[in-house]
Amino acid sequence: MTPLNLDTATLTLLEDLRNDFTISFETKNIDYCEVFQKSKTAIIYYNPKIVNTESIAHELLHIWLNRYNYSIGNHLFLCTQSDKKLSKILNKFLCDHITNCCDHFKMYPKFIEMGYSSSNFLTNSLAPKASLKDVKGIKLKLLGLYNSNSVNLYIGCLISILADHAENDYTEHHAILKTKDEELYSIVTQFWTKWVGFDIENIDPIFNSDLELTDNLIEEFTKWGESKTIF
Ligand SMILES: [Zn+2]
Repeated sequence: MTPLNLDTATLTLLEDLRNDFTISFETKNIDYCEVFQKSKTAIIYYNPKIVNTESIAHELLHIWLNRYNYSIGNHLFLCTQSDKKLSKILNKFLCDHITNCCDHFKMYPKFIEMGYSSSNFLTNSLAPKASLKDVKGIKLKLLGLYNSNSVNLYIGCLISILADHAENDYTEHHAILKTKDEELYSIVTQFWTKWVGFDIENIDPIFNSDLELTDNLIEEFTKWGESKTIF
């Protein structure tokens, strides 16, 4: 059943998306909303006791992105699983996190355009997305060998702060991450800069390709890992 308290902006988006997708709603005892999507079908799970129109709008915007059919995290995951080094770092959790950050960055302007406040975009929407303690605690190397879990955490933290829509000051986070590994820092930030400029509405296999963007990232990660032992 469609939640009862949706406002006009959310209902208008829902109606528009229903031209392209089959969208249904199911109640679930959870303290957030989530969407399950498979090709043109989507199910939004929500708790009727706590649902607000903004959280449904957020899930609908994930569905809206499906119109553009790009692949970042999935492509990254599938293309690196046969690589001995990268498969240790780029697990499903990190690739899904990257997808989510990429999605959120492209959804956010539309969320604001719908008339909603940035404080309602996510749970703890305005809170810092990584603490200084987390960032300082990342130990990439042990006796000259790279720890794949730490590299995973490094990439995840950096993507989280780059993707943050809230105006948090990450100057110190950036400085620390840069000191820990300048090359890795620049690989991730350059990928993010390209994603910021990437036009999801005009994907083109030659001039504006999501796959090429992700393949470049894989290539850079591969180069970074070449001379390193990663355990
Ligand atoms: Zn989301």
